[in-house]
Amino acid sequence: MIADKTSGYRKNFLLIITFIVLISVLFILSLFLAFNFSNKYIENEFSSAKVDVLEKTIGPYNDFFQNKIPEVSYYNGFLDSATAAKFTDTVLLKYPFVSKVIFYDSEVKNEPVRDGINASHFSFGPKAIYQFGSLVPLDSVKLFSYDNTRSFSVGDDFNAIGFKLVSFVESLDTAKAPSQDELFSNFSAIRSNRITYLNIPRREDLKVYKEMMRRKLASSPVYQQDLLTFQLDPYKIRIVNSRPLLYQRIRIEPLTYDPIDASDLYMATEITLPGPFSDYKLYFQSSRSFIKKEVFSYFLPIALILLLVYAVLMLVAMLIYRNLNINSKMFKLQYDFITNFSHEFKTPVSVIKIAGNNIRSASSLSEREQKHYGKILDEEADKLNGLMNKLLAFTQIENKSISLNQEEVSMRDFIESTIESHTLKYSDFEMTYEVSGFDKFITDPVLLGSLFDNLAENAYKYSNPGNKKLHISARLIRGRIVLRFTDKGIGIAAQDLEHIFKKFFRIQNQYNQQGSVGLGLAFCKELVNFMGGEIRVKSKINRGTEFIIVLPYINT
Ligand code: ADP
Repeated sequence: MIADKTSGYRKNFLLIITFIVLISVLFILSLFLAFNFSNKYIENEFSSAKVDVLEKTIGPYNDFFQNKIPEVSYYNGFLDSATAAKFTDTVLLKYPFVSKVIFYDSEVKNEPVRDGINASHFSFGPKAIYQFGSLVPLDSVKLFSYDNTRSFSVGDDFNAIGFKLVSFVESLDTAKAPSQDELFSNFSAIRSNRITYLNIPRREDLKVYKEMMRRKLASSPVYQQDLLTFQLDPYKIRIVNSRPLLYQRIRIEPLTYDPIDASDLYMATEITLPGPFSDYKLYFQSSRSFIKKEVFSYFLPIALILLLVYAVLMLVAMLIYRNLNINSKMFKLQYDFITNFSHEFKTPVSVIKIAGNNIRSASSLSEREQKHYGKILDEEADKLNGLMNKLLAFTQIENKSISLNQEEVSMRDFIESTIESHTLKYSDFEMTYEVSGFDKFITDPVLLGSLFDNLAENAYKYSNPGNKKLHISARLIRGRIVLRFTDKGIGIAAQDLEHIFKKFFRIQNQYNQQGSVGLGLAFCKELVNFMGGEIRVKSKINRGTEFIIVLPYINT
């Protein structure tokens, strides 16, 4: 049964160790997977977050295109060079990617124009052309004027919008109002690096335009139109790096750009710019080591969480391990206890049995024999009783199921009576004592008696014959009673000193072959603790041992 139990414990230990190894392997594996996952995630991010950068970077252009350009229509064609200059100033200031603005102050007429477009009776041509921009010198703001003929071709931008206007007016259904989108797309033209915009005429003007296309009107009307061409510089777009930890460098490059040294040290991705910038792209580049940092900052919290889970599991495993350890120790203790005690009981029991048998089988007993057997039975019964009492007292003290008696005791009388009873038992036991600083104090005399008896017994037991000496000193030092039991015995080896107060601990030697269970000192320690004191030991092998007990001093 005992063997079964030990192997059971061993199995449990094996299980818990397997568990610890398993969670450690799992922990390392999950760290590895988490790192791989972080790597993949950041690589994906690298190629997908560019959309966000593009959106933020192109934001000002969208604002310019959707909100600023249509403002031209508010002037209803009545922009002149001064107001146009003011308008373009705000544009140039707010949108740095606009490098130059050409303003065509134009007219729609019922008569043919010299420069511009003539479609049947509908004509569209510039009166004057101005240019604005940071690089435009003041004396060349005016490029062309109808009255001051400086040769100038109206150019593609003007013609492109002119044709759009003609075909729009031609196909216009005057009974229906055109949608805002339809108008905007017909009155603007997007080409590489430039946007041209013509102010959108009012609906009734558009009706007249349609009439003008069909026939010559009697009133020969003239309508003002403003046409603006914005020249754009893609390299002036302010790049907004919304993911600075992901993208080390972002540049604007022509669509055809392809770096020659596509080395492994760098990661790169690109996205084409929209609208008039579609010949260009955003080019993103980061070094591998830069990306690695981002991978680590993503991986670290995951690793910390994993570590925490691992630590908790480890703690649980450790607690289980500790519990198992305690259990197995308890089991060993129980085992020791049974073997020790059964051994101790066996000897007196077999002696009693032999004596009993002898008495029974003898036909008659002489008075000497009677006394002899009587003495044996009496002594062995005392031994058994002593063992039982020791065990009982120990269990009571351990379970704190006894209460401390408080009686006044004289230290001198107490030691003297101890000496008397021991020297009576062992005539070769030399015991001396001294008491200083106090005599009377309050204590539990039964417990104190047990303590003195145990220590005196040991001093006698573990001293060589002819050298069985014990000196007991009792002193009052700094309000506490200090008792010293000094013998000249065989001493205790240093490595055993820390164990001697443990239950069932015995140092195998010639003196404790009989009547020793290794409980005496453990009992003393329990007693002293119960009385609110402490016990220490000093010893030198072959020189002797000293037990020092410090007890609280209570007097009347
Ligand atoms: P035991 O029943 O074996 O005496 P104890 O708990 O009283 O058990 O003592 C534990 C061990 O400490 C003993 O086996 C003995 O070797 C050692 N020991 C105790 N007292 C002394 C002493 N005064 N001198 C030397 N060794 C001692």
